Amino acid sequence: MKKGYVQVYTGNGKGKTTASLGLAIRAAGAGLNVYIVQFLKQGDYSEIKALSKFENITVKQFGLGKFVKGNPSDEDIFAGQEGLSLIRELIKEGKHDLIIIEEGNVAVMCNLFGEEELIKIIDSKPDELELVITGRGATPAIIERADLVTEMKEIKHYYSQGVMARVGIEK
Ligand code: ATP
Ligand code: MG
Repeated sequence: MKKGYVQVYTGNGKGKTTASLGLAIRAAGAGLNVYIVQFLKQGDYSEIKALSKFENITVKQFGLGKFVKGNPSDEDIFAGQEGLSLIRELIKEGKHDLIIIEEGNVAVMCNLFGEEELIKIIDSKPDELELVITGRGATPAIIERADLVTEMKEIKHYYSQGVMARVGIEK
């Protein structure tokens, strides 16, 4: 890619993760190399199974898979740091056209690391790289640095009717 931009998908409505997955598939179809670094999540999300069929999409999870409530544990923080190190390494290597920092905003919100860590990554982005950060609660500083910000606005969500995440639809 000649010029890559910084995109943020945030807001409370459904569609942030799936928008980034859709973009990953489109990019892969165009022959681009995609890396998805997923914070907080761990385990058998259906998208991980589906994306394993693409040779130019890699997904790696850096989460303990449990809800971070209050202060994150040392393990949570360690996993967050590992994810950040990988992103820095990927940027240095320069082999990928699209890097998706999945739930990056939530990682900041849960205090796995500070927003300045994401800002440093944005600032070190080479021109050719497209960088996508997803997750509710994008901070003003991250929004300011992004070139594209989409807020998924919740008009209605069946979550409020007690419908939990369903396999194949939310996970
Ligand atoms: P998708 O992965 O379907 O694109 P998303 O990435 O926009 O959705 P997240 O913010 O990552 O959604 O939400 C993860 C899960 O949290 C949802 O699948 C849902 O089960 C649950 N959820 C949805 N709305 C709420 C809410 N208002 N409060 C707490 N949890 C919610
Ligand atoms: Mg999500």
